[in-house]
Amino acid sequence: MTTNVAIDAMDAPTTMIRATRARMKRDDSSDGNLLDDAARRAKRYLDTLDARPVAPSSAAIARLAELDVPLPRESTPADRVLAELDELVSPATMAMAGRRFFGFVIGGALPVSLAANWLASTWDQNAALARVTPGVARLEIVALRWLIELFGLPAGTEGAFVTGATMANFTALAAARHHVLKQVGWSVEADGLFGAPPITVVIGEEAHPTLIKSLGLLGLGRRRVVRVPVDGQGRMRADRFPKLANSPAIICLQAGNLNSGAFDPCTDICELAHAAGAWVHVDGAFGLWARTVPELSALTTGIELADSWATDAHKWLNVPYDCGVALVREPGALPAAMAVTADYLPTESSERNPADFTPELSRRARGVEVWAALRSLGRDGLSAMIGKNVRQAQLFAERLAAAGYEILNDVVLNQVLVSFGSAEQTLRTIEAVQRDGTCWCGSTVWQGRTAMRISVSSWATTDADVELSVQAIIRAARGAG
Ligand SMILES: *Cc1c(COP(=O)(O)O)cnc(C)c1O
Repeated sequence: MTTNVAIDAMDAPTTMIRATRARMKRDDSSDGNLLDDAARRAKRYLDTLDARPVAPSSAAIARLAELDVPLPRESTPADRVLAELDELVSPATMAMAGRRFFGFVIGGALPVSLAANWLASTWDQNAALARVTPGVARLEIVALRWLIELFGLPAGTEGAFVTGATMANFTALAAARHHVLKQVGWSVEADGLFGAPPITVVIGEEAHPTLIKSLGLLGLGRRRVVRVPVDGQGRMRADRFPKLANSPAIICLQAGNLNSGAFDPCTDICELAHAAGAWVHVDGAFGLWARTVPELSALTTGIELADSWATDAHKWLNVPYDCGVALVREPGALPAAMAVTADYLPTESSERNPADFTPELSRRARGVEVWAALRSLGRDGLSAMIGKNVRQAQLFAERLAAAGYEILNDVVLNQVLVSFGSAEQTLRTIEAVQRDGTCWCGSTVWQGRTAMRISVSSWATTDADVELSVQAIIRAARGAG
């Protein structure tokens, strides 16, 4: 954190915009220069990111008003557009790509995944059909196979790259809906839900709100679910699991509670659910990645017994937005829910067509960054990255507890919930932390307690970043006490 770098970063955009304008005069149509310019600006952004406050300044946010101009009638040279974007918007970004953003479980972007993303954007492949875009279709197949192996899921599991865990839940649950109704002789794709045999849907009291939303999108209802009470860590209580009739049922478990990081008891519930012929789905948006760390196996055993899984790659795998993954054990259930055929589309292929598995037809090739990240990290590198963040969460908890603050959850994964006294003291502390800018943490209310929520999920975070952030948090708490 040197002042020089910060000043340099502040002055940089104006210097750059002048340099760019000068260059523009010489040659305002050179695409080569434009891409070089973009790369230079991106590199500069990343190089100065950890030296600036994590949240954008109010001055930077105020300057966004300059974007609000009338729709231009005349064209503007591309490099001037880029300069304007960089000058006005780069300073108004939250430093989510940096090392000390702990606000949500979202991670940053590994350099190799960012670079692969640039290349993939350059290819501009519409990654729907294998015969039309064979390269990226093949990357998706390989990346999915690697993920299934890393997560220790059954061979033959099918998958899809979608925008995030919301859509991964939606996609996997569409396969679930297809399958449980097919079992009773109903085609939901053909005939919809009107008049269909009812599906019992069971979720935990602390299911992620986006899981509930995806149930709503599927016509299964946000409210008509059966909610199972949870324990003091937010885990579904197996002893309170409802008796299931032998009728269509979908059970939604959570691997990684959004507040505590806790895991629902998968082994016990899969046993109860499968005895009644129910489908078990696991929302493992970030928790599924714990499967890559052998030391965390006590947390993650039984996940492999489920029938479908949703996870995010843009969270803990640290690839750019947006990238989620839906995985389904039952062969054919996913394409039965998602495939589309049309005379103009060359869908016939001996290779897997991505679009047969996804809600979208036209789509970007999300498997590229996943492939690049896994190719680069390898099994050991990925395990080390996830394991490091878990240790760093424990470091946060130890340091803050030692300073006299209350840690509300068992820190089993990457989530730390801290109380700084009363709800007001905690909220004041969080505000002071955000203002200070060393790091960024948000607030939550968990089981009736207001808390600061710390999520550690960036590849770039070092132990020194944790120490620096702990000091900033303690300073803020003392000031806010
Ligand atoms: C983040 C998250 C989601 C939603 O994921 P998006 O990628 O934001 O759509 C769903 N479930 C859990 C447990 C999450 O942490």
